Amino acid sequence: MIKLKLKDGSVREIEKAMPASEIIKDIGMGLYKAACCVKLDGEVFDMRTVVDHDCHFEVMTFDSKAGKETFWHTASHLMAQAVKSLYPEAKLARGPATDTGFYYDFEVEKPFTPADLEKIQAEMKKLAKEGYALERFELSADEAIKLMEERHEDYKVELIHKHDDKGEKLSFYKQGDFVDLCAGPHIMSVAPIKAVKLLSCTGAYWGKAEDGKQLSRIYGTAFPKASMLDEFLKQQEEAKLRDHNKIGRELEYFTTVDCIGQGLPVMLPKGARVIQLLQRWVEDVEQAKGCLLTKTPLFAKRDLYKISGHWDHYLDGMFILGDPYDEEKECFALRPMTCPFQYQVFLNRQRSYRELPMRLTETSTLFRNEDSGEMHGLIRVRQFTISEGHYILRPDQLEEEFKGCLELAKYFLDTVGLLDDCTFRFSQWDPANPKNKYEGTAEQWEHAQAAMKTILDDLGVDYDIGIDEAAFYGPKLDIQYKNVYGKEDTLVTIQIDMLLAERFGMYYVDKDGQKKLPYIIHRTSLGCFERTLAYMLEHFNGVLPLWLAPEQVRLLPIKEGHAEYAQKIADRMTAMGMRVTVDNRDENIGTKIKAARLERIPYMLIIGDNEVNSNTVTVRSRKEGELPAMPVDELIAKLDEEIKTKAK
Ligand SMILES: [Zn+2]
Ligand SMILES: [Zn+2]
Repeated sequence: MIKLKLKDGSVREIEKAMPASEIIKDIGMGLYKAACCVKLDGEVFDMRTVVDHDCHFEVMTFDSKAGKETFWHTASHLMAQAVKSLYPEAKLARGPATDTGFYYDFEVEKPFTPADLEKIQAEMKKLAKEGYALERFELSADEAIKLMEERHEDYKVELIHKHDDKGEKLSFYKQGDFVDLCAGPHIMSVAPIKAVKLLSCTGAYWGKAEDGKQLSRIYGTAFPKASMLDEFLKQQEEAKLRDHNKIGRELEYFTTVDCIGQGLPVMLPKGARVIQLLQRWVEDVEQAKGCLLTKTPLFAKRDLYKISGHWDHYLDGMFILGDPYDEEKECFALRPMTCPFQYQVFLNRQRSYRELPMRLTETSTLFRNEDSGEMHGLIRVRQFTISEGHYILRPDQLEEEFKGCLELAKYFLDTVGLLDDCTFRFSQWDPANPKNKYEGTAEQWEHAQAAMKTILDDLGVDYDIGIDEAAFYGPKLDIQYKNVYGKEDTLVTIQIDMLLAERFGMYYVDKDGQKKLPYIIHRTSLGCFERTLAYMLEHFNGVLPLWLAPEQVRLLPIKEGHAEYAQKIADRMTAMGMRVTVDNRDENIGTKIKAARLERIPYMLIIGDNEVNSNTVTVRSRKEGELPAMPVDELIAKLDEEIKTKAK
């Protein structure tokens, strides 16, 4: 008997090992039709997987993240099948799911055009109606190479060669006469792919941009129902209006300049002010939580990165000053992370167990050489500032300190209004990945990941697992956030590192007089300030909470004679630290109101004869609309309270 614990807590028994798909059919045909993949003990598997041991058994439908990914990955195969049937000479490169759909890269004579997309989309619909089942089969590396060579799939042959030293079998998926090298998972057939929309085509590269071959990429999305596609397309249109890359520029938070470069935003006074406010707040809270502030250089000799491992594992991501391959001459690199710099603070003298945990933190500017195709407003940039911490601790302090980091991050994210939309990802290594991607042995990784799993489960964190998303030195808890278009990025990360202390010779003297290696937690607490600002602009549609708004209040005198009274109120508020302006232009009140509304000022105060005579103000609030005239003292107290409590 095999016991399966279902999501609702009930237990289902099966006589013998059988494919997950058969188990789901037994539970109910309705569920089977909606199922995309399964989670066995929290890990995602294909429904074709044979279940042969007791486990937690969870069916993932399109509503779930794993379900969507499986559905969209299958849609990418369907698209590739359509392309191959229309353009038999096209070569397949790769085709994963994305956060909102899928893409596939092809080598073709002529890059695809929008007219081609129409044809391919029509072909996909035709093939989906045929309802091909997907079959999974395995081949040895030699057999796999033979099959792909016969089909002239050069890119697949190259991929197989990368894996063939392991002696493991490779899996393929087949539908009709279309075959793709693929790890899966996939849905059972293409029939559920009822609504498809191919969205765009762009150039892409195989390998690194400079030497890689030019490919043609098609982006698309797909849904089980036409109404869901309509809803998605409507949302994308609405998203364009909230995109921080649009409103952040219109409202003059930031700009970019060609001769400075892509991914290097220039913060204008409003954006700079918000970042300053966030930074002061974060630094104060962290220091109150026992963090020690450091200030370390923005670049270093390559020697430092060789010790840390960045030179071996992260060279492509760094900006190098000098020739990285000329060992004779001095060569520097801008820092992509603060860790190796902050460790020097610990290394300054011998440390005792009594000094641990040592919670080092720094408001740190970092530089990462991101792909130019990835740049997006303030979300994907090449230079950013982040509160980066490294907690150096004894193994027995790991759980408590990790918990502290998570609580701190949650407090910050909740206060800025983003926590409710965050998701958690437990990012693990991939034992199958090419050797040079990760440091350490399999045992060390299993140990670190097991420790992290225990902590996350104890804390009741509801997480997804991300395979091959770890840092090169350890597993991570990533707190993820989606932009208006549904694309996901990491906002905050908390990482467990049991490897780097040894590389740097970081020891502490324990109670028993022995020298021991500490553990290190790498953590951010709010996420980089630029990205946080971007997400806030989108979330609040440009109207930031009062405590962060670069201009909090604008006074609008109706006539020239009201200006003096307005200025007096403004001076009082300014003296209290509020950010206030007076619109003294010779314009009518309607024009002034319109301007303040377009600039999304949280509070407008309208001043006319009535207000001057009764020592009141008429208030228009972005949140509450028009309020009755109120005494100036009452208004100031209201605003002061809203700012002090950091109300959302
Ligand atoms: Zn695939
Ligand atoms: Zn670090």
